Amino acid sequence: MKEISCIFCGIPSDNPVIEENGFIGKRCLECGLIYISPRPTQDEIIDLYGHNSAHISAQEHISDEYRKRLYARHHLGKLKKFAEGGQILEIGAGAGFFLDEARKLGFDPFGLEFNPHQAGFMRNHLGIPCIEKPLSTDIFNGKRFDVIYHCDVISHLYDPLFDFKVMNSLLKDHGILFFETGNFAEMDQSYYSYIPTFMYPDHLFFFGLNNLKTLLEKTGFELIYTKRYSIFPQLWLKSKFGNHQGQKNDVHEFHQTGNRNNGLVEKLKVRVNYGMRYYAGAVSPKQNRPQTILICARKKL
Ligand SMILES: [Zn+2]
Repeated sequence: MKEISCIFCGIPSDNPVIEENGFIGKRCLECGLIYISPRPTQDEIIDLYGHNSAHISAQEHISDEYRKRLYARHHLGKLKKFAEGGQILEIGAGAGFFLDEARKLGFDPFGLEFNPHQAGFMRNHLGIPCIEKPLSTDIFNGKRFDVIYHCDVISHLYDPLFDFKVMNSLLKDHGILFFETGNFAEMDQSYYSYIPTFMYPDHLFFFGLNNLKTLLEKTGFELIYTKRYSIFPQLWLKSKFGNHQGQKNDVHEFHQTGNRNNGLVEKLKVRVNYGMRYYAGAVSPKQNRPQTILICARKKL
C-alpha cells in the first residue's frame, strides 16, 4: 500500500470522499478525479481477478448472458457508425458475449480476460480466441486491431495512462477505441447514498468526462463521440425496492445471484432495466447525477 498523487495533475490530495472496505477514495482538488490512496500493489490486484474473488464471480457473469447480449447489441449499434467491421479486441471480455454479438455483425473477435473460468468459456463454448495475459503490445503475436472495446474496465486499470498508450499502439492507423464507464468523479456527493457499493478495492479510479478527455488527449486519441445515460432511475428504484437479502449489487448494474435470466419474468426485468438505462436514461441526463457514458475516440496519426 502506497500513497499516490493524481495521475493527471501530479499533486497529492488530502480530500477523502469515499471510504469502503478499509480503502479511501480521494478527490483531486484540481481535476476532480477520485482515486484510491494508499493503493494496493499490482500483485494484490492481479490476485483478486485470477482467484475469482472479485466482487462478481465468474459464474454470475456467465449466467448473466441474456442481459450481456442485449447491452452488447445496443453498444454495437452505436459502434457501427464508426467502424464497419475488421478485427476487434475486447479488454476484460468476460465470458465473450459482446464479442459473439460483434462477430454476428461481421467483426473478427479477440478477447483478453484475466479470469480463467470466463476465458475458458469463451474459447471452448464460443470458439473465440482469448488470452489470460495482461494488456501489452505483444498480445496475439503483435497483431494490430481495427477496434478496441471495453466496458466498465477503466476504473479497474492500475495505470490508465500507460494502458491507454498501449491500446493506442495496438490499434491500426485511424483505429477506433470505444468504451463505457461511469461519471462518479463529477457526481454530486448527495447521490452517494444511492450507490449500493463502490466496489473498493476492485475500482481504483472514478472519472468524469473532463478526466476522460484528458486521458484521451494524453494518450494519442481524438474524441469523436460521447453519449451520457442517467442511471439514477435504476439506482432509485433499487434503493426503494431491490435490496433483498442474498442479492449482490454493484455500481455498474444490478447483478443478482442465481439464474435470474431463466424465466420470462426475469427476462422482462432485464428489459425494463435496459429501457430505463439506455432509453429513459438518454433523456436530458444531468451532469452531476450518476450516469454511464459511452465514448468513441480515434487514434491520432
Ligand atoms: Zn487531478
